Amino acid sequence: MDLAALHAPIQQEIEHRISRLVSSSSFVLGPAVEAFEAGFAEYCQARYAVGCNSGTSAIHLALAALDIGPGDEVITVSHTFVGTVWGILYCGATPVYADIDPRTMNMDISRVEALITDRTRAIIPVHLYGQPVNMAPLLSIAAKHGLYVIEDAAQAHGARYQERRVGSLGHIACFSFYPGKNLGAWGEAGAVVTSDPQLAGRLRRLRDHGQPKRYCHDERGYNYRMDAIQGAVLAVKLRYLDGWNARRAELARVYREALAGVPGLQLPEYCAGTESVHHLYVIRHERRDDLGAALATRGVSTGLHYPQPVHRQAGAGTGNDCIDDLPETDAAAASCLSLPMFPTMTDRQLRQVTEAVVASLDALQRV
Ligand SMILES: *Cc1c(COP(=O)(O)O)cnc(C)c1O
Repeated sequence: MDLAALHAPIQQEIEHRISRLVSSSSFVLGPAVEAFEAGFAEYCQARYAVGCNSGTSAIHLALAALDIGPGDEVITVSHTFVGTVWGILYCGATPVYADIDPRTMNMDISRVEALITDRTRAIIPVHLYGQPVNMAPLLSIAAKHGLYVIEDAAQAHGARYQERRVGSLGHIACFSFYPGKNLGAWGEAGAVVTSDPQLAGRLRRLRDHGQPKRYCHDERGYNYRMDAIQGAVLAVKLRYLDGWNARRAELARVYREALAGVPGLQLPEYCAGTESVHHLYVIRHERRDDLGAALATRGVSTGLHYPQPVHRQAGAGTGNDCIDDLPETDAAAASCLSLPMFPTMTDRQLRQVTEAVVASLDALQRV
């Protein structure tokens, strides 16, 4: 990811906005954040966006606004960034993990219903790597059992499911604007998106010390407010997001063309009706550590998203008694390898990567 190259053409425009903010001394929430919230809600085809200070806070706020707490269970996936799960634990609720579909590496919807108990309150599907979860069957299971659906859209700004943008599919959606995301701030930021006016009001109060008005704290709140500077940066960058996502789609198309049919290599697969925004391009191979090392010697850096599932992390607990019950999750963690994927990647760099992958696998087969 080359953030400097991404920002160079728009840096002046952003710096101009920031220097106006400095003159106004309005550093927290305020007009810059409100303008971004309005633009981002519209972008997501939803009515309200509530800016906050991270994607992790966004998920915590969403669960708090639904009064989810101790004794409640929330169904999600373990093959995700740990930030999906912190909010569940902060509320004192219990995460319950559904295994993933090995093709899309997203939540396997056919496994969800068996996990629902009297205590289940919500489901958090994660649009991992930029690809929307197969939402239609998930939403009908949720409706049948009276459960809330909270989208973790931290990796999927702008992705579509059956023509609709993520963020408008469930009751609430949570976004992260961590610098490396498809839409990234110049620091930490996040947002909660909903079309429910009551929930939007509650979310606004909860992120701001639980205040309906100043120094009136009707309920326990949080200091999860968005910096004005991040609002200003994000409002500018939002205008470029579709262009950047289009370049990512082009890179993914070329990767598929160049790497399809390479023995032993599994390429990302996409659920029908989804339009991914390719936050990450994650391939799978049985010897991914060897492949990663071979690519490194050819000057190609790779990543692991994610090398250890959340339910095997000491800090996140084991959730339900699932420790040996998520074979596809464990298999994905052991075989995933993320290739370079960022909008300013050149055709030449792309060719270098695909050639290095083919050459590395060739070499591996001979030893
Ligand atoms: C980045 C991310 C988060 C957390 O967002 P932060 O802004 O880093 O707190 C949550 N879930 C997923 C899937 C993410 O990728």
